[in-house]
Amino acid sequence: MRSNLCNRCGSCVGLSGGAIVFEDKTGKYLPSLYRELDTHKADRIWHACAGKEFDFPKYNETIYGKDSKFHQYTGAYKNIYIGYSNDKKIRKNSASGGIISSVLIWLLENNKIDGAVVLGMSETEPWMNEPFIATTKEEILAAAQSKYTISSVNEILPKIEKFNGKLAYVGLPGQVQSIRKLQAVNDVSVKNIEYIFGPFYGNTLHFSSVISFLRSYGVKNYRQINKLYFRYGEWPGNMRAELKTGRVIELPKFHANYLIPFHILKNSLLCTDLSNEFTDISGGDAWAPVYEERGKGFSIVFSRSDKGQQILDEMLQDGWLTLDPIDVNEAITIHSHGYDLKKRGAFIRMKFRKWLGKENPDYGYIIKGFSVSRYIMEFLTDALFVVLGTKPARFLVEKIPPHTIGKIFEKARTIWKKSTHKTKRQNLN
Ligand SMILES: Cc1cc2nc3c(=O)[nH]c(=O)nc-3n(C[C@H](O)[C@H](O)[C@H](O)COP(=O)(O)OP(=O)(O)OC[C@H]3O[C@@H](n4cnc5c(N)ncnc54)[C@H](O)[C@@H]3O)c2cc1C
Repeated sequence: MRSNLCNRCGSCVGLSGGAIVFEDKTGKYLPSLYRELDTHKADRIWHACAGKEFDFPKYNETIYGKDSKFHQYTGAYKNIYIGYSNDKKIRKNSASGGIISSVLIWLLENNKIDGAVVLGMSETEPWMNEPFIATTKEEILAAAQSKYTISSVNEILPKIEKFNGKLAYVGLPGQVQSIRKLQAVNDVSVKNIEYIFGPFYGNTLHFSSVISFLRSYGVKNYRQINKLYFRYGEWPGNMRAELKTGRVIELPKFHANYLIPFHILKNSLLCTDLSNEFTDISGGDAWAPVYEERGKGFSIVFSRSDKGQQILDEMLQDGWLTLDPIDVNEAITIHSHGYDLKKRGAFIRMKFRKWLGKENPDYGYIIKGFSVSRYIMEFLTDALFVVLGTKPARFLVEKIPPHTIGKIFEKARTIWKKSTHKTKRQNLN
């Protein structure tokens, strides 16, 4: 799994009974085998790994049925909406519109679940994220907002299995895919999971992003962190580190995005699932000027299964949410950059890897037939990621004040987006 195929979902660690552990979570964050596994356990773990294989067409058909509405970019869906939680506190406290947190709280308060698998920040090591089972509204709220460093939610499969009651589960696409694989073979570890939700997924960052962020402000030791947020405050929020000394370091999210090319987890670039296609409900940011200008969090929301649709319908009736339907073409246009990255870029990248003799994940489908300009654009982007991911590049960027590099990055990104707009939007719908 040192071939970039590991998405760090954590299933192998969770199912191994201590034989596999993640090493160096602040560094490469890779699973390592500590003890031999018996054949049964090894087979179970191998099956659960979605990093090497996940058959999109097969799972689409078995989970959502042949007749579900479907688009190759978005996956199966019942309806698509733009919306937000009507609870101002939840909305402000969340990553975008607070839909995911609201759904979890509504399910809990209506006794449809007894707990929710979410990702919070560790109490003992507050710079690391940590999955846990929330059983109160307060715990769900404490776990809201996106964590952009690597998360391995499925490490807690043993706790999920032992939990006494019904659970909702929140995870990134690779984590959800592994849960779906386990559900398909009725694995006991996922028997308590009743609902699956998840955020959209562009990419995740190595922990080196946090280290580098601090260093740029002259802070040498990440253990100084008392609290770490990736989207603190009103939408889109700030990256914010509160230090034990009382010092607070904060940078607007759009500026903190400069960390992406320097610290991106290369496996994110092999993921072809932007909108968390195998959930009951998934949600992302509504990245469109009309919503961005309003300055409050708006989510794009997909209901995918009957269960997911029923939850949204009942929440609407109860006055918990505001949701305006949009059609699939609008959804794709809002996220044209993300869909282009995942449904074109990832397949071109896999082709490059194949030419280099590298192994690729098997997703059971391939999208091809892109223009020459799209190939060139991908080559340039990948080359940039390789160069900026090197130690000298990371070292140099730390010498520039984050506010300056953040502004430069935002400007460069706007220019890049405008100049590649035509290539990206071509035949997108
Ligand atoms: C790594 C990452 C990359 C993303 N990339 C994009 C993108 O490219 N485009 C886009 O539109 N949206 C992206 N999102 C989604 C976006 O940031 C919001 O999470 C989404 O809009 C849902 O907002 P909300 O207000 O409904 O969620 P909230 O109500 O804030 O709830 C978020 C839920 O997600 C869980 N969670 C947070 N981080 C993680 C994580 N790393 N792993 C597992 N569970 C987690 C939390 O525990 C919480 O339950 C990304 C999110 C993450 C975590």
